[in-house]
Amino acid sequence: MPTIVKARKYSIQWFLLRRMGSSALVDVFNLKIYYLKTYPSPALIRHECKHIEQIKRYGKLGYLALWNYYNALYGYDNNPLELEAKAAEAGG
Ligand SMILES: [Zn+2]
Repeated sequence: MPTIVKARKYSIQWFLLRRMGSSALVDVFNLKIYYLKTYPSPALIRHECKHIEQIKRYGKLGYLALWNYYNALYGYDNNPLELEAKAAEAGG
């Protein structure tokens, strides 16, 4: 189980969460899950854990490059890394 922490106001994670409009994210560099306001649901934790698995699969920089490349190519909703995370979110 990863460490799950509330993003400190004005921290990098706090700014990223607000900019992305998401309620939780994984910090690629320390592999902790940060949330903005509400402690993440089990489904959202499964989503973020899948990203941690992907980061370990591709490496930190490989994951960042791939995620951004896919996002530019397919958009967020069809980003294959997000589709895989959404499947984990749904599947349990
Ligand atoms: Zn995601």
